Amino acid sequence: MPVIEVTSLHKRYGETVAVRDVSFDVEAGEIFGVLGPNGAGKTTTVECVAGLRVPDGGGVSVLGLDPRRDATRLRHQVGVQLQESRLPDRLRVAEALTLYASFYREPADPAQLLDELGLDGKRDTPYEKLSGGQKQRLSIALALVGNPRIAILDELTTGLDPQARRDTWGLIERVRDRGVTILLVTHFMEEAERLCDRLAVIDKGRVVALDSPAGLVSTVTPEQRIRFRPSAPFDDRLLTDLPQVTAVTRSGSQILVTGTGEVLHAVTSVLARHQIVAADLRLEQATLDDAFVELTGRRFVD
Ligand code: ADP
Repeated sequence: MPVIEVTSLHKRYGETVAVRDVSFDVEAGEIFGVLGPNGAGKTTTVECVAGLRVPDGGGVSVLGLDPRRDATRLRHQVGVQLQESRLPDRLRVAEALTLYASFYREPADPAQLLDELGLDGKRDTPYEKLSGGQKQRLSIALALVGNPRIAILDELTTGLDPQARRDTWGLIERVRDRGVTILLVTHFMEEAERLCDRLAVIDKGRVVALDSPAGLVSTVTPEQRIRFRPSAPFDDRLLTDLPQVTAVTRSGSQILVTGTGEVLHAVTSVLARHQIVAADLRLEQATLDDAFVELTGRRFVD
């Protein structure tokens, strides 16, 4: 049984339709991504899942419960980290965690959580003295301190440098490995590709695709590109005759082959048979960004 079920969700703010028609299920133990450009309706969707907003249409069920009606029961099972949550400047890291732990019946051990999140050395540091990455890690710790079964994390790596972002991804994977189901909002393609087991791509309030990152890329844009410099001249037909190859183009000494399936193996084998070495060989696979263009007709702008 899915732990989160969103069915034909609809939400408007006055005249603005923020969420037009969004449906997806999240299975226990997965990292499920909600990906889309700014303004797509991602935050509104997860706020409805978290019970912070009332849908105007459709339904949301979390662990079989209604996020609004059963808010008290769900509070202990769902941890929420929303965008730009701020704490009082003077509050120290360990104090914040102990305070939040006191809201729950069976909280996690704050000291252990700080250790796991790499904040052990910052226990006595006031909130205002933390770096962006440390604030982000603290907000994740606060979302997890109630020992939730589900964690909802919104844009958690926005504003972080690449290293801090990577560290945060590792952290999220460790949280998932502890058995927590994660609903993650992101507008970073790379983050979705790297972290999510499955994702819903949302554009203008609708789900335009729902699959694993690899599944999305391969169903939408199965094409692969191979670039190399041949060690000896050869006739293009050597490659265009291969069923996996769709096109061969030359630019200076470089050759670009596009194709599908086992195209890399087919090309390298035929070249090897003709004693041609493919120097500077690179395989460029389609990315989620390419998939998004195919799905929506425009490039995804971060
Ligand atoms: P995302 O998280 O994908 O950036 P949001 O759910 O925040 O998208 O916003 C979807 C749309 O709803 C946007 O057009 C946004 O301007 C609008 N919106 C979001 N929150 C409010 C609000 N509280 N009042 C009015 N409009 C809002």
